[in-house]
Amino acid sequence: MASSGRKKIIAANWKMYKTIPEAERFVKELAPAVEEAPVQVYLAAPFTAIYPLAEMTKGTKLVIGAQNMNDASEGAFTGEVAARMLTDAGAQFVILGHSERRRLFKESDTLIHRKVAKALASGLQPLLCVGESAEEREAGTSEQVVTEQLHAALNGLDKKAANRVVIAYEPIWAIGTGHVATSQEASEMHAKIRQALASHWGEEAAAGIPILYGGSVKPETAPELFDQPEIDGFLVGGASLSVESFTEILNLTLQKEQL
Ligand code: PEP
Repeated sequence: MASSGRKKIIAANWKMYKTIPEAERFVKELAPAVEEAPVQVYLAAPFTAIYPLAEMTKGTKLVIGAQNMNDASEGAFTGEVAARMLTDAGAQFVILGHSERRRLFKESDTLIHRKVAKALASGLQPLLCVGESAEEREAGTSEQVVTEQLHAALNGLDKKAANRVVIAYEPIWAIGTGHVATSQEASEMHAKIRQALASHWGEEAAAGIPILYGGSVKPETAPELFDQPEIDGFLVGGASLSVESFTEILNLTLQKEQL
């Protein structure tokens, strides 16, 4: 059983899946597992489903969030969504720096930094994703890439941010590929991430920041990863789309964690 004393989080990233009725049905079916789970359960919904899900889950343990936001407060940015619109809709957290945003939408470290700062200033908890590509891992530069992403995103942020930020280590080669990182690979990188966090905010503050693993987490691969003291939970993509597999992942935490 993990014994770090840190908050444990299992987060779903639905990406561009689920209409409002589909999302509502899912949450209704998931509800009993969420109430029993000795971890926090986060759900990053598509923008359209945030408000109905936030209304539906008021007073429950399920935390609803978004998958992205713009860094500006408001303005002529067709198609974009601002942080205050997310909080208004009931979002409590926002995924930032996901590799799909970095790669497909060309989001830079500088932009991600501005988004993290904006999220914090707006009362949203940033769930910041970092991770290296297969080529970077092969070239032996994983640690450098990940720590640079982290430093760029957190650069200059006040120490108070350490109480709010959640990090997800998501190696790009593991996302949606079925090729999960070994518990050793993940643990090693999580330890490096924590060192990098300590260099920003000191060891004590860094010790309290949850670091999640993401990348092809499935009911079969989750137990061993969850046993690692450096792994504080998961960011789950594909396996969070079915109530059955996401419930299985939540249920395994019942056997391993005590509140
Ligand atoms: C993700 O997109 O954040 C993710 C981890 O996806 P998957 O679980 O499908 O690899």
